[in-house]
Amino acid sequence: MAKHVLSVPEKDKKYFWHPFTHMKSYLSQEPLIIEEADGVMLKDVQGNWYIDGVSSLWCNLHGHRRKEIDEAIKAQLAKVAHSTTLGLTNIPAAQLAERLARISPSGLNHIFYSDDGSTAVEVALKMAFCYWQEKEGRARAKFISFENAYHGDTLGAVSVGGIELFHSRFRPLLFQNFVAPSPYCYRCSLGKDPSSCRLACLKKLEQILAENKGEVAAVIIEPLVQAAGGMIVAPEGFLSGVRELTCRYNTMLIADEVAVGFGRTGKMFACQWEDVSPDLMAVAKGLTAGYLPLAATLATDEIFEAFLGDDARKTFFHGHTFTGNPLASAAALASLDIFEKENVLENLRPKISLLEKRLAQFSQLNRVGDIRQKGLIAGIELVRDRKTKEPFPAEEKTGIKVCLKARKHGVIIRPLGDVIVIMPPLAISISQLEALLDAIYASIEAVTEG
Ligand code: PLP
Repeated sequence: MAKHVLSVPEKDKKYFWHPFTHMKSYLSQEPLIIEEADGVMLKDVQGNWYIDGVSSLWCNLHGHRRKEIDEAIKAQLAKVAHSTTLGLTNIPAAQLAERLARISPSGLNHIFYSDDGSTAVEVALKMAFCYWQEKEGRARAKFISFENAYHGDTLGAVSVGGIELFHSRFRPLLFQNFVAPSPYCYRCSLGKDPSSCRLACLKKLEQILAENKGEVAAVIIEPLVQAAGGMIVAPEGFLSGVRELTCRYNTMLIADEVAVGFGRTGKMFACQWEDVSPDLMAVAKGLTAGYLPLAATLATDEIFEAFLGDDARKTFFHGHTFTGNPLASAAALASLDIFEKENVLENLRPKISLLEKRLAQFSQLNRVGDIRQKGLIAGIELVRDRKTKEPFPAEEKTGIKVCLKARKHGVIIRPLGDVIVIMPPLAISISQLEALLDAIYASIEAVTEG
């Protein structure tokens, strides 16, 4: 009897365990299989085209199949795909290090590569920890993180995470740290009114710093937008206030720019909105314009120099096989060229204004509780009752229903609970952005008011 050859959907369902995916629900549906892409559009195997409304999970910048990036990868492929950077180097990774130092907030002159956002954060935490050992001859083993923070899924990154659903079950495996209030003004955990609170959440952070002076290795923050926490946009002055406190209490600031870096907020890095230069900065996702896995942790001279010495133990004992991969570095260089040649940041302004104007209309929908935006990032929080801010019951899966509805309108988006996320590639055109917002508006209306 002829052996049944599995189709792609059958193979997928039988063998592929998907990340952050409720597999029981996934297995009960026909999978959406993406076959190819063009610009900001994705095409499935049935030939349907969709706007990539969340940049293939917040990483694509200049559109898919950008000729310049494709060509850069091919040119590098013709030379060498990979060689180790443990004790030696390669041309694109060295060039990229110089470029990153040039464009990042001042003082971040040393680039340590890794593979993804989680590992870039892991590196930052370990560097901060080792730095104090080198400097003070003793360990500072505590970090301060924020409620609703998300820094990735490796255990160090989870230790500084603050999303109950994702993180709480791993607590027995994690190191302990201090948790400061999130600047989530719509649902302030201190019960304050943002119009009069004068950033009371910073006072709480200060209290933790004052009570634990000399014990805190670093404060880790997602600058301006807590992304996976629900696109929570911090009020103006919060980030610079945190920076000021870390300086005053002699600890370090780690800025996790994994989600917000590379133009998403309207500047190259979110820290640049408040003239903040952190001690360590993690980047990934958009580093290669969403083409290939590559991440980096940027460090100051002071941190780098703490590891310089004759003693062989003065080594940062961390590194991954594909650290500084030449193909990914070539893609990143080509992406930075596009930023320069096409004035990407300037050209974003009309798109950001349009997004702001169109988002204001969403408040006409009865179940829209809060609308948050920074640059080309937006989160629309849906609630059952606007007056009381009562959420929809989780089992109703309102956010997921809206996103599935949006697919019928030719848009791929992914929610964070009941927060509808809008984070298209920077290359989206004005008319595509209009179409994306029309589809999302209609989908929210149909699901929550239909
Ligand atoms: N840090 C932030 C702020 C993120 O948003 C993410 C992912 O969404 C990460 C770290 C983890 O990145 P990765 O999924 O590449 O490990």
